[in-house]
Amino acid sequence: MNRTFIQKREPASPFKRTPQRLAILDYLKGNTDHPSADDIYRAVSRKYQSMSFATVYNTLNTLTKKGTLRELTIDPERKRYDPDTTRHHHLICVLCGTIVDIPEGIAVDLPGKLARDFTLLGNHIEFYGHCSRCKKKRKTP
Ligand code: ZN
Ligand code: MN
Repeated sequence: MNRTFIQKREPASPFKRTPQRLAILDYLKGNTDHPSADDIYRAVSRKYQSMSFATVYNTLNTLTKKGTLRELTIDPERKRYDPDTTRHHHLICVLCGTIVDIPEGIAVDLPGKLARDFTLLGNHIEFYGHCSRCKKKRKTP
């Protein structure tokens, strides 16, 4: 096997569907919890003891680059991942970190001059507050 062959093959190699990666994809499919890399690692490594955090982290990066996954930087301490890449907004509980989806449908208009000068491609609105569960907890003495 010569070198040229290897060099040609490598960039063409697609996302390899290893059992570990498939387990990560499977966990994320339809998941609306907006899990962090840690959450994903904890959940998936329960089934796959051979799963390493590095595999989870690298897979998440690859999927994000491919556009299969949306990376949310709402929480500066830990990135969260959203398999729903359609446009939507988020409701964020500042107490427990829960992130809830808001379907698109909130009309936001840029004021005149900004709208003229700027070609708007999309938006992402973050609503902060206290979720119902945290509100209940706070009320109980
Ligand atoms: Zn909460
Ligand atoms: Mn979402």
